[in-house]
Amino acid sequence: MNVFNSLSRRVEALEPLADNTIRLYTCGPTVYNFAHIGNFRAYTFEDVLRRVIQFNGMKVRQVMNLTDVDDKTIRGANAQGVALTAYTKTYKDAFFADLKRLNVQPAEVYPAATDHIPEMIALVEKLMAKGVAYQSDDKSVYFKVREFPGYGKLAHIDFDHQQTGLRCAADEYDKENVGDFALWKAWEPSDGPVGWDSPWGRGRPGWHIECSAMSMKYLGETFDLHTGGIDNLFPHHENEIAQAEAATGKPFVKTWMHCAHLRVNGEKMSKSLGNFFTLRDLLDKGYTGREIRYVLINAHYRSGLNFAFSALDDARKSLARIDACVEKVGKWESGKAGTCAFAQKCLDDFTAAVNDDLNLPKAFAALFELVRETNAALAAAETAGFDAGEVLRVFRRMDEVLGVIFFENEKKAVEVPADVQSLLDARAAARQAKNWAESDRLRDVIAAAGWLVKDSKDGQSVSPKQ
Ligand code: AMP
Ligand code: ZN
Repeated sequence: MNVFNSLSRRVEALEPLADNTIRLYTCGPTVYNFAHIGNFRAYTFEDVLRRVIQFNGMKVRQVMNLTDVDDKTIRGANAQGVALTAYTKTYKDAFFADLKRLNVQPAEVYPAATDHIPEMIALVEKLMAKGVAYQSDDKSVYFKVREFPGYGKLAHIDFDHQQTGLRCAADEYDKENVGDFALWKAWEPSDGPVGWDSPWGRGRPGWHIECSAMSMKYLGETFDLHTGGIDNLFPHHENEIAQAEAATGKPFVKTWMHCAHLRVNGEKMSKSLGNFFTLRDLLDKGYTGREIRYVLINAHYRSGLNFAFSALDDARKSLARIDACVEKVGKWESGKAGTCAFAQKCLDDFTAAVNDDLNLPKAFAALFELVRETNAALAAAETAGFDAGEVLRVFRRMDEVLGVIFFENEKKAVEVPADVQSLLDARAAARQAKNWAESDRLRDVIAAAGWLVKDSKDGQSVSPKQ
């Protein structure tokens, strides 16, 4: 399996450092709002990556952080006058529900920043002891960029054309404004009740230190693979490297991978530009999680992808074509077991494509070749040598990576959560009592929780809104 490493800027073999396991850290969401489908481009890319690693017989240990303290979460919580944890819980829960709808395999660990403040403080103390961090007049603690010789190796920063002596308290800035960055931010009145005691006074961690502390806690001081959207490369990932390597003296991560942005009319889809759709927006328009996943993964992860509704409509047609073929094969009783040369050839092409830096457009081409050949074989009067079981096996094998073919089956296996079940029970009772107003009200409450109720003569049934 070969991938493009943003650090070396070369395509390299991805081989586990230990235990046949790829230790993978993926920068997760800032839980101050619903994630948009641009964010989900990054998470579905990471899901495909994880699946291709497993497809190749390696194991994965994935850690995805939840940034539940930063300027945006604090602002949101304080504006609503609720505790930070209560505010972020809504968006954490929504995030996990969205991942499920997109058939994203869960990571092994989802550490939240607010549960790891002591680890972050310990890391900052280490950097202070090594002389690469200092507390400034504003009481915040900064990383001294010039004291870490490797600074800029990921983003390839040319220091000769830089201003010097800058200091930057904001979490995000561009390459032209490289400066000492905040490790620990001193408490300010606008932080309200949010803050933790530290050797430098009350305050909170900077965004970058979160990821260095939590990745090393769960994956070790040196691990295999770290990913994110391309906007994370600088300064976030550059700063993660600086913090970790300055503290441990060891290489932090072997391979870095970054996905390109989902765009709208040529511009990055982002909250700040206001040009975004959440997953819920699209589900409400009648598109399914499966169709959205199909669109997000059906482009090379390093190529820009422009969002358009027509792509979702095309996805619906393509998926219907695959479904029809898989259904026909499923019903085929050949009685003849044997090899199926065309299925094997399609699987070989598929495998070569995913192992060539996750070339999903080529992988989908191999899938459609399988659909075409299968339809032709089924249509032919004589189907000698056609082994339906083998063809189905190849569809299933491809779907280990794609996660779009047998998606509907998985959907049916979804369990109804206890709170939704008790609403359903209350609704059944209301209907029994012919209290139609209450029945309608409960249907809306259940819908708001993401479930669709259908009534028939046999009673009510429920399915996740997709
Ligand atoms: P954030 O919540 O802004 O920290 O972003 C979470 C993840 O989504 C990061 O890996 C970002 O790089 C990624 N991301 C944000 N916007 C986009 C976009 N338009 N296309 C692809 N990835 C994005
Ligand atoms: Zn991160």
